[in-house]
Amino acid sequence: MSNNRMRTDVILIGAGIMSATLGTLLKELAPDWEITVFERLADAGDESSNEWNNAGTGHAALCELNYTVEKPDGSIDISKAIKINEQFNVSLQFWSYLVKSKLIDHPQDFIMPLPHMSLVQGEKNVAFLKKRFEALASNPLFEGMEFSDDPKKLQEWVPLIMKDRTLNEPIAATRIESGTDVNFGALTRMLFDHLKRKHVDIRYKHHVDDMKRTSDGSWELKVRNLDSGTVERHVAKFVFIGAGGGSLHLLQKSGIPEGKGIGGFPVSGIFMVCNNPDVVEQHHAKVYGKAKVGAPPMSVPHLDTRFIDNKKSLLFGPFAGFSPKFLKNGSMLDLITSVKPHNLLTMLAAGVKNMSLTNYLIQQVMLSKEQRMEELREFVPSARSEDWDLIVAGQRVQVIKDTEAGGKGTLQFGTEVVSAADGSIAALLGASPGASTAVHVMLEVITRCFPERMTEWEPKIKEMIPSYGVPLMKNPGLLREIHASAARTLGLSEGMPLPMA
Ligand SMILES: Cc1cc2nc3c(=O)[nH]c(=O)nc-3n(C[C@H](O)[C@H](O)[C@H](O)COP(=O)(O)OP(=O)(O)OC[C@H]3O[C@@H](n4cnc5c(N)ncnc54)[C@H](O)[C@@H]3O)c2cc1C
Repeated sequence: MSNNRMRTDVILIGAGIMSATLGTLLKELAPDWEITVFERLADAGDESSNEWNNAGTGHAALCELNYTVEKPDGSIDISKAIKINEQFNVSLQFWSYLVKSKLIDHPQDFIMPLPHMSLVQGEKNVAFLKKRFEALASNPLFEGMEFSDDPKKLQEWVPLIMKDRTLNEPIAATRIESGTDVNFGALTRMLFDHLKRKHVDIRYKHHVDDMKRTSDGSWELKVRNLDSGTVERHVAKFVFIGAGGGSLHLLQKSGIPEGKGIGGFPVSGIFMVCNNPDVVEQHHAKVYGKAKVGAPPMSVPHLDTRFIDNKKSLLFGPFAGFSPKFLKNGSMLDLITSVKPHNLLTMLAAGVKNMSLTNYLIQQVMLSKEQRMEELREFVPSARSEDWDLIVAGQRVQVIKDTEAGGKGTLQFGTEVVSAADGSIAALLGASPGASTAVHVMLEVITRCFPERMTEWEPKIKEMIPSYGVPLMKNPGLLREIHASAARTLGLSEGMPLPMA
């Protein structure tokens, strides 16, 4: 190997929450491994993980109605809600471990307790919410959830939403105090600061252009230094593509067969933000509604209290939109250059199948501020235009692939790990439930890519995540202990259930 190639054990592409989490886990499991990170932007957590580019919901299925669907027999399927809640509990445990071990501090800078609520109007929706509540409330994971269809109670829970509201149809809500608002941008930066202290080589303004396998099965990356314009070659035995919207192109460059036939469809997000303290003070919750007919699941409207830089604000949205860019700081050519001979038919099939989604997104892009205000007024009837500003959030690239259930060109709304059979490279695609489940997803990367190490690493993983391998739903005692510990270390005491006496 020539001298200008730099060798390291692990390369992480992208400095978002996923690489931050994987790097931190690996440094705990294999402290001697050398890790290099390449990030095209000037800082960590500036794309989707940035606090203003996502909604900061700690997704634990406490309020998102799209995680519980009504089955044809009228019963509610809560399996997805259970899965996501279990996964969020994995994140909570890992973050608690990081604080307890003093690897990061000031948890209040990245996580705050905040009630999570679902709110619906109309007889049919109220009946659905009640059934959903009954299906969840008896499950230990959702302990403490309350339901009310009494406007007086709702006035107490969400005064801003009830103010000036004409009640000409039934209205109901569920509320649970153990929800959270998470500043994923701050958490990402904290984790990268920690990695820097652990001597991880973090190179900002470095764009990974290309990659190829070397004769010994390692990966050689062609990396462009965006300041000097010089091209560097870096080699590692393991590469994680945590490039967010940039992951699909890099996966395609790797040429691994597992990456063939996959396409991506970008959906952008726009929020409205309110900084008027008089309005902000009247609301204290994340309140999720029901998605409009034809809207993709990530466009469920919600009104959130946000805690960013010790300041409270309100966020409403997201309004979906269309831009061919795969990253907020990406290129208008991203979508077109992601179409390859191996995914062309899949992409065409997805285009035909999703005409209504495309129309919906185009309609959303065309909305004027006043039209967006009208949608906001369905939540906050008293909202005044002058109190609310539009902000452009991040891009979410939805995975398109052929599936047995959905057929050719099925649009997926989840998060997906794609890895080579030999575990030498893995990529994360998709964006939902996203950052909230980063720890679970990165543990999946580790399990898939380092199977031979798992016996050795398991005790450490269990120290960091006591519920590792154990469904919490079936272990209410452990669940209570974990919540009590998270409440203490992360300052979430407001709503976490207390341990059994
Ligand atoms: C509108 C919106 C709302 C959301 N709301 C929530 C929410 O409420 N809760 C939640 O849990 N999740 C939410 N998400 C999802 C969440 O933000 C993402 O899942 C998460 O931030 C993805 O992290 P990441 O590290 O994979 O990607 P990113 O944070 O996007 O990081 C990827 C990094 O890779 C870099 N990069 C890309 N290509 C290259 C290259 N070739 N070379 C070097 N660097 C490269 C980018 O510059 C970027 O910094 C939301 C997302 C959006 C867009």
